Amino acid sequence: MKEISCKLLVIGAGPGGYVCAIRAGQLGVDTVIVEAGKPGGTCLNVGCIPSKALIHAAEEFEKVLHMAGGESPLGISVTAPTLDLAKTIAWKDGIVSRLNSGVAGLLKKAGVKTVHGWATFRDGKTVAVETETGSQVIRAEAIAIATGSAPVELPFLPFGGPVISSTEALALSEVPKKLAVVGGGYIGLELGIAFAKMGAKVTVVEALPRVLAQYDSELTRPVVKRLSALGIEVITGVKAKGTKGGALLIETSDGKSVKVAADKILMTVGRKPVTEGWGLEQIDLDLAGKFIRIDDQCRTSMRGIFAIGDVTGEPMLAHRAMAQGEMVAEIVAGHKRSWDKRSIPAVCFTDPELVTAGLSPEEAKALGGELKIGMFPFAANGRAMTKLGEDGFVRVVARADNHLVLGIQAVGQGASELAAAFGLALEMGARLEDIAGTIHAHPTQGEGFQEAALKALGHALHI
Ligand SMILES: Cc1cc2nc3c(=O)[nH]c(=O)nc-3n(C[C@H](O)[C@H](O)[C@H](O)COP(=O)(O)OP(=O)(O)OC[C@H]3O[C@@H](n4cnc5c(N)ncnc54)[C@H](O)[C@@H]3O)c2cc1C
Repeated sequence: MKEISCKLLVIGAGPGGYVCAIRAGQLGVDTVIVEAGKPGGTCLNVGCIPSKALIHAAEEFEKVLHMAGGESPLGISVTAPTLDLAKTIAWKDGIVSRLNSGVAGLLKKAGVKTVHGWATFRDGKTVAVETETGSQVIRAEAIAIATGSAPVELPFLPFGGPVISSTEALALSEVPKKLAVVGGGYIGLELGIAFAKMGAKVTVVEALPRVLAQYDSELTRPVVKRLSALGIEVITGVKAKGTKGGALLIETSDGKSVKVAADKILMTVGRKPVTEGWGLEQIDLDLAGKFIRIDDQCRTSMRGIFAIGDVTGEPMLAHRAMAQGEMVAEIVAGHKRSWDKRSIPAVCFTDPELVTAGLSPEEAKALGGELKIGMFPFAANGRAMTKLGEDGFVRVVARADNHLVLGIQAVGQGASELAAAFGLALEMGARLEDIAGTIHAHPTQGEGFQEAALKALGHALHI
């Protein structure tokens, strides 16, 4: 059995793990990373990147279809567009594979040794990896667990046959005629909307009274409107129960059993941390619910063992994992660091897109104290008009006493690109006057952000 030693061992090369390893390597820390699959983890291989590729292709196809219908106000007409999903998926796979090589190259450039295989803890300092060429034992002074998350499977709707997770949905070679999506959270709606644009008859079933329940209803209203325009049926307050002869069985709130016809049933009822199969029991770490418990330096209950990313809890987002990974690398290298982020912006790539950073109006109200809330509609924004993207708005939530911005939200076509400005404003501790006093280039949707701040101050210019 081969044995190696290092200062830092990272388990899992998703966004959390690979960023941790690259930063550690940059800082001269002798680092090894172990990955059972491909570099980039869920995000790069079966998550963020492939879903956004598919969403983009679906968006383009729907635009052209719209034009073919003779309905385009732009005066463009085309005839009979078609979509070859197998080709779209091959294009998406090409992007993924380029990024796989990119991550592998970055790890190499940073001097990180990559070991391919499944890692299992033997004790708090030692891990065994089953590689293609046999067992490899790695001893490390510090270990970062970045094992990520996996889709939740319901026992009465196990994956297989027509029942698929987001992973299989991103690799279909044909658009299903009828697609039932179980779970109206962001993953279910992003993919459901994409398949509807590609021609599937989509039904979304959700146990809660409304979809995208983590967002306030004012923010999700344009998305709900668009779901209906795309012909997506949304059934709320119901529970998925199983399958029967080409249909999904659901139970309504009054106990009735209803069939939803479906060739494919996409399960998006949540994701669970990967805490099994790698010897958690050998090291007996404390958990917080189903996640690994961490402190503000991502330290676990065992000295020298850190945990980062989805395995440590919500929000399960790639950029949170990356920020944690970078911090842990710097701590291992001897820097004084702790989690000091003011916000973790979140984007939902539905149509239209949603962006949130910091506190929602409800969360801000719960703190007590007076608020100033400014909202600016894209219907009054020139750039949004030129993109046929007038539905939506930017909303800024600030303290009334000192105008400190507490939260920013937007819904609108292309609103995802505003996430950077929102995150920066919160991180820099911006006041309404800082945003209102910054020249925003014209014509851009970003002007909506400036106008929302002006509105909160009581003197918006374009509304
Ligand atoms: C469809 C979909 C769309 C998404 N879209 C977005 C988005 O737009 N924006 C966003 O921020 N987030 C998005 N996410 C979430 C994002 O993918 C995760 O938050 C992110 O990947 C978490 O990174 P991580 O490093 O914690 O874990 P992961 O990316 O899950 O990586 C963990 C890695 O560890 C490896 N591993 C696990 N155990 C072992 C072991 N014992 N030995 C060796 N290797 C091991 C796995 O093979 C995996 O590669 C999406 C997720 C899905 C499913």
